[in-house]
Amino acid sequence: MPQTVPSTLRERLDLVESRIESAVRAAGRTREEITLLAVTKKFPAEVLREAYGLGLRDFGENYVQEFAEKYPALGSMNHARFHLIGHLQSNKAKVAADLFQAIQTVDSAKLAKRLDQAATHPLDIMLEVKLSTEEAKFGAAPEELETLIGEVRQCPNLHLRGLMTMPPWSDDPERTRPYFQRLRELAVKHGLHDLSMGMSHDLEAAIEEGATHIRIGTALFGPRIKA
Ligand SMILES: *Cc1c(COP(=O)(O)O)cnc(C)c1O
Repeated sequence: MPQTVPSTLRERLDLVESRIESAVRAAGRTREEITLLAVTKKFPAEVLREAYGLGLRDFGENYVQEFAEKYPALGSMNHARFHLIGHLQSNKAKVAADLFQAIQTVDSAKLAKRLDQAATHPLDIMLEVKLSTEEAKFGAAPEELETLIGEVRQCPNLHLRGLMTMPPWSDDPERTRPYFQRLRELAVKHGLHDLSMGMSHDLEAAIEEGATHIRIGTALFGPRIKA
């Protein structure tokens, strides 16, 4: 869909919202079922503030260190919620537990326990599931979920909400759709509600397959500077 990309965040947000609306309608769902996460990795604090000014309240960040550095410059953003959507190493659990309201990438009991011990406020938790065989991807294997869910449920400061996945990248949403379907099957099997799946190019397929949280970067903020 390489149409001309609108130049302001306001216009890009309108475009994303209209894509969400169409997908929701096609799927017989409602807009309220979907949380739009603005993925702001590699963008400075001013961009988060601008997004907040336009009504966005949920923000996805990938790197604990990067977010720790921009956090002081955010000022007060009442009712904003920050979700960690990148891999979390156990040694950063304390900082992450302080900065974020939600951690979407828990994939081991060890990490869950670290977060639980470090938490000074309740944390919403999603378990990251690895659904492809690509070696580089993080996440728990589907077979490990039952045990992991049991462990997380024993952590008083962690509120288990659902599952998250990051399929192998493809520009064809029909290639990521089977991963979305598989994630939903796993959530149903384990009695979990939230499904974090779908990004800029495949949010429609994700919503059709049951996403409750979509993670949108490029479609809102434009291309990121490559590291
Ligand atoms: C960067 C990122 C996104 C956003 O991807 P876009 O294609 O820019 O929308 C979503 N989820 C995760 C885990 C990411 O790292």
